[in-house]
Amino acid sequence: MKVIMKKEPKAGAVLAEMEIPKIGPKDILVKVMATSICGTDAHIYSWDAWSQKRIKPPYVMGHEFAGEVVEVGADVTAIKVGDVVSTETHIVCGVCDLCTTGNAHICRDTAILGVDTNGTYAEYVAIPESNAWKNPKGIDPAYLAVQEPLGNAVHTLLAGDIIGKTVAVVGCGPIGIMAVAVAKAVSASKVIAIEVNEYRLELAKKLGADIVINPLKEDPIAKILEVTGGMGVDVVAEMSGNALAIQQALKYIKLGGRMALLGIPTADVAIDIANDVVFKGITLQGIAGRKMYDTWFQVKGLIESGNLNLEEIITHRLPMEDFEEGFKLMASGNCGKVVLYPNK
Ligand code: NAD
Ligand code: ZN
Repeated sequence: MKVIMKKEPKAGAVLAEMEIPKIGPKDILVKVMATSICGTDAHIYSWDAWSQKRIKPPYVMGHEFAGEVVEVGADVTAIKVGDVVSTETHIVCGVCDLCTTGNAHICRDTAILGVDTNGTYAEYVAIPESNAWKNPKGIDPAYLAVQEPLGNAVHTLLAGDIIGKTVAVVGCGPIGIMAVAVAKAVSASKVIAIEVNEYRLELAKKLGADIVINPLKEDPIAKILEVTGGMGVDVVAEMSGNALAIQQALKYIKLGGRMALLGIPTADVAIDIANDVVFKGITLQGIAGRKMYDTWFQVKGLIESGNLNLEEIITHRLPMEDFEEGFKLMASGNCGKVVLYPNK
């Protein structure tokens, strides 16, 4: 089968041939219908400092996908050949204190598909049955593939109250633009999108942002205080991982507000805990992955509601062979979700 392989410990990846994976008794083999590029894949492709520590080439990249089940292991019970599945990418132990108390998304013993194991930039992928998410039939596989990052956006926003709240989405990369769409779909009163890339600000507008701010062109603190009558926003969904953006958000969040942090800064971030957290009485929430599987049910329901404009989120669809073009788009920032098709 064809795969995109991170063959060597250096920038880039190659199109390669390998055997279709053999499955264990608890695994399923899936023919990949669509697989999307995640920011993490772009980091691995560019071979940044994080990747150099974490990734062990050679291996197959990719983790966001949807496909049709073609084989099931002897002990598989809930998934059948012909089912269309997506996957939760955190492969967890399933038995620890966290896994057994609704916190599997932060299991200490987590392996990540397409990071620690062979992934989905392939014609076929083997995954544990316990990670498979069974989809309804007849939905565009690209939509099904992006449920995983969409789940990050949903987990971030729905980790607290959102209905009728003013929400600032900080950083409108693929997950941020999804967060804009989700906030609108779940009845936030006003959604403010903050992003430095103009293409992505336009996307945020298309997805329903009421106000867009480019912090390179205007002061986000002054602007947000102005449009909220001096109060600030109720909720900050932090999806940039940018230190300055985080520091600014702590200035324009309302007293008693909630800041949910999904973005991953590359270094420590200095914050004024006394004035910006304690005396403001705000709540800071770290958001890792998706609740297993509460978030997946929320995502499913949101897609079924028809209130999410997923087509605008997916800006590029390419045959898998054109992966280099996909990674170039990701590096430029002039894209939303880029979807690859290995079997087309
Ligand atoms: P991305 O890197 O494509 O998006 C980040 C966006 O922030 C970019 O569009 C960038 O232009 C923008 N940005 C940079 N500086 C800014 C600033 N000062 N103000 C406003 N915007 C700014 O990433 P993504 O794939 O959309 O993911 C969002 C973040 O979430 C990333 O940091 C990613 O690493 C992280 N992430 C976390 C988890 C988790 O489990 N916590 C899972 C997936 C992704
Ligand atoms: Zn566990």
